[in-house]
Amino acid sequence: MDSWREIEGKQVHDPLYYKQKERMNTGVCVWVPGPVIVGSGPSGLAVAACLKDKGVPSLVLERSNCIASLWQLKTYDRLRLHLPKKFCELPLMPFPASFPEYPTKHQFVSYLEAYAKKFGIVPQFNETVVSAEYDNGLALWRIRTSGEAKKEYVCRWLVVATGENAEVVTPEIDGMNEFKGSIVHTSTYGNGNMFRGKKVLVVGCGNSGMEVCLDLCNHNARPSLVVRDTVHVLPREMLGWSTFGLCMGLLRWFPTRAVDCLLLLVSRIMLGDTAPFGLRRPSLGPLELKSLTGKTPVLDSGTLNKIKSGDIKVCPAIKRLTEHSAEFVDDTLEDFDAIVLATGYKSNVPSWLKEREFFSDKDGLPRRPFPDSWKGEHGLYAVGFTRRGLNGASIDARRIAQDVERCWKAEAKNPLITSIYKN
Ligand SMILES: Cc1cc2nc3c(=O)[nH]c(=O)nc-3n(C[C@H](O)[C@H](O)[C@H](O)COP(=O)(O)OP(=O)(O)OC[C@H]3O[C@@H](n4cnc5c(N)ncnc54)[C@H](O)[C@@H]3O)c2cc1C
Repeated sequence: MDSWREIEGKQVHDPLYYKQKERMNTGVCVWVPGPVIVGSGPSGLAVAACLKDKGVPSLVLERSNCIASLWQLKTYDRLRLHLPKKFCELPLMPFPASFPEYPTKHQFVSYLEAYAKKFGIVPQFNETVVSAEYDNGLALWRIRTSGEAKKEYVCRWLVVATGENAEVVTPEIDGMNEFKGSIVHTSTYGNGNMFRGKKVLVVGCGNSGMEVCLDLCNHNARPSLVVRDTVHVLPREMLGWSTFGLCMGLLRWFPTRAVDCLLLLVSRIMLGDTAPFGLRRPSLGPLELKSLTGKTPVLDSGTLNKIKSGDIKVCPAIKRLTEHSAEFVDDTLEDFDAIVLATGYKSNVPSWLKEREFFSDKDGLPRRPFPDSWKGEHGLYAVGFTRRGLNGASIDARRIAQDVERCWKAEAKNPLITSIYKN
């Protein structure tokens, strides 16, 4: 503990330190020998497990009261993994063989709970990280949390695992405050029960928006879907394979554009032309678009048939809302009882990480694209920001654990540092 005491000793004589502490109003200061991982979603759990496997301890901080809070608290009842299970499993533990190809969200959560148990991961719940800053003088990260006990954690490595979906995105729509019906975001939508017999406008045509429309139909509501932009709708399965699996396989041998051509050809044969139904395709192919903009194609799970049959109506962008209706950009006006915003999520990293080199201020994602998006300076890491879902998170987690293990072992050989860890 010598060098830690040395640091504390220096601080005792440093008036600036006390001023800073006063300003930060922190209660307890905790030294963490291994990495601090912020977020106990699948990405944070994957890193903690890979580290544990290599004998490196870590501390996981989570703002919510459970692991995988996005999946447990903010997703609709009918949700299943959008991708086949083999592309969604975390490192070192496959899904149970008894799980279906597309596990339900409850199965996925039970898998994550078993995963945390297997690797002995016990996050500190109800601790929201409000700031993390690299202290150049100490060459350590200082992480402050809010919650019942305000704490400051000090560590050598910081792993950002707060996800691409940390905060809901709510659009500003003209007249939104005038609308008298309910307006909910998909993060608080469980199922269509409360919308039975009602006319519901769903804003946003990604996978969630499409699926919520289908759910509303199944609960005898009358949904309309706002499609502002172009969109790629693909069948979930093609030629006997999952579309995602097929893409992964083909991309090993063929360039993106060639695979895109095949995807579009097969989609046309299986789904027909989607444009007459208000779903115009972008000029770029689905994979090229995803890699350039991050925009994910919709994998159809039955919504398209409901659009074709007229059970779901497609509308253009909203111009403004009034008390009971929506006016669209084509000047049509229609009454609605409720609105569901399927307008997605965004990263919250810029709100708490005091670092601007590695993470972008604009979107809260690492500036460098995959595969170089996992490692910053001074022991800073990012997991789950590759726009490649759980598969991308697993790749990041393995790399981070390997890198930290290397430093951990090198530092363990340093007798001064070893004494810190032992005490
Ligand atoms: C409806 C839906 C369906 C999806 N389906 C799939 C799929 O089938 N396959 C796939 O690969 N991906 C899917 N995704 C993408 C999905 O986001 C990821 O797969 C996965 O949840 C990402 O895990 P994560 O740990 O990076 O982020 P999250 O699951 O969002 O976990 C981040 C955690 O960090 C916590 N946190 C945030 N800020 C702080 C803070 N300041 N302090 C402390 N804790 C904090 C959060 O509470 C949360 O628990 C889906 C996403 C959605 C929304």
